[in-house]
Amino acid sequence: MSIPPIESKIITDRLLSSWIRCKRKAWLDVYENKERKIWLAHRSLQLDHQYKSLKAFSCTKPGYGIKGCLKGEENVVGIRLKTSNFFNHHIEAHPLILHKTKGNSCFGNFKYQPVIVRQGRRITRNHRLSLALWGHLLEQFQQSSIDEGLAISLTKNGLEIDKVFLSKKLHQQLLNSINKLIIDLDKKDPPSLTSDRKKCVLCPWNKVCNKKALEEGHLSEINGIGSKRQEILQSIGINNITELAKAKSIFLSDKLDTFGGKNDMLSHQLINQAKVQLSSIPKRINTNPVLPELSNVPGVIIYDIESDPDANHDFLHGFISIRKTGIRNWDVDNFNYNNILTISNKDEKDTLFEIYKQFNNFNSWPILHYGETEYLSFQKMAKRHGMPDLELNSIQNRFVDVHERVRKHWLLPVNSYGLKGVAQWLGFKWDQKNVDGAQALLWWRQWRSTQNNSIVHKANLKKLLRYNQDDCIATWVIAQWLLNNDREHK
Ligand code: SF4
Repeated sequence: MSIPPIESKIITDRLLSSWIRCKRKAWLDVYENKERKIWLAHRSLQLDHQYKSLKAFSCTKPGYGIKGCLKGEENVVGIRLKTSNFFNHHIEAHPLILHKTKGNSCFGNFKYQPVIVRQGRRITRNHRLSLALWGHLLEQFQQSSIDEGLAISLTKNGLEIDKVFLSKKLHQQLLNSINKLIIDLDKKDPPSLTSDRKKCVLCPWNKVCNKKALEEGHLSEINGIGSKRQEILQSIGINNITELAKAKSIFLSDKLDTFGGKNDMLSHQLINQAKVQLSSIPKRINTNPVLPELSNVPGVIIYDIESDPDANHDFLHGFISIRKTGIRNWDVDNFNYNNILTISNKDEKDTLFEIYKQFNNFNSWPILHYGETEYLSFQKMAKRHGMPDLELNSIQNRFVDVHERVRKHWLLPVNSYGLKGVAQWLGFKWDQKNVDGAQALLWWRQWRSTQNNSIVHKANLKKLLRYNQDDCIATWVIAQWLLNNDREHK
């Protein structure tokens, strides 16, 4: 890849935001082939949230560009701010919206302040530095100083507006960050992978970086190694999976002790996980039966919930039921899929009643689920609506967390023990490509916002239900693998 000199590049607010998120991301944004980026449903959800928050903030149509500022409109969009006097680099920014406030500026006896839309609950460093950059450029643009910006967010409680003080300290942090960003962009090679690989799930470069991590045997590929543990391991000379697999458990445990983290079990587990991933051969770590609840039952129910975490709303409860046709045979080809949609939390009581009926239709059948979400959500819902403890316990005793059983009994050659990671390792393919919980939420929101009889409306629901059904089947695929391997280990 030939890299043009950075002098020819323009530093933008988006690039700064990428760099704050991950140094490597900013470098890839500039130099990597854009076709290698992937589309993420999460990005569409962010844009949707941004649009709704701005709409709630600006009740009337905002003004546009310099004309809007000259007219003294309450809110103005479409302003592009520029300077070429910033470390001798061109800086460009495109604030989402400017809001009129008290003061004097070149536009009259008022001035503008920048507004950012907050994603999530907290105002992050990224929000503060973006506001600081917009504020700095806006001061030159309107020839008036700015003391604060606004961070807004439309939440289930309404529009929240927080003031962010644009202090001298924040300005200094902005200068330092841009300086470091320029140094990073001057490098011939991309900065190393972020140590906090959880961020990668929501990054459009994740395929590029996952490939790199795999080739390098990056420690973050080992399940259970986050940024802190990675730092500790590197400081004691363990830099990749091969070195971890060769480490002696006592050595590792002692070294972890130096950092206040002595844990014989953990050392043993990390080393064995590295060995399993290197060999690609799963390893049984507990010989007790994995799913004894499934020995003498007429069938199983598999339960999977789709949620909107921001609204704290479980909008879809999906179930498949599979009958047992012999000691070891299950009638998988004739499974039944049922679902309950909950339009809003106000309908929750009806939903609970429907779920209860669903479970009672198959009285005594175990209820398999992957992860603790379904167990906890059902419990909270039942308690909110006063289900007697005896009844709740009798249902909850039927819940079986397949994820917990996998973790307790097996080390698998996967870098994630999530439903997708394990089911895909077993060869299961979701009917729709590149789908995840964020995509399901996007389908849900699109279904809610389209007309009842439109083709798009029906298509969105169909895709959502198919995704949920596939999640249920994937859970069964894992359960069946556990059952089959239980027999082999007897
Ligand atoms: S995938 Fe991860 S390491 Fe790669 S650029 Fe994105 S956040 Fe950084």
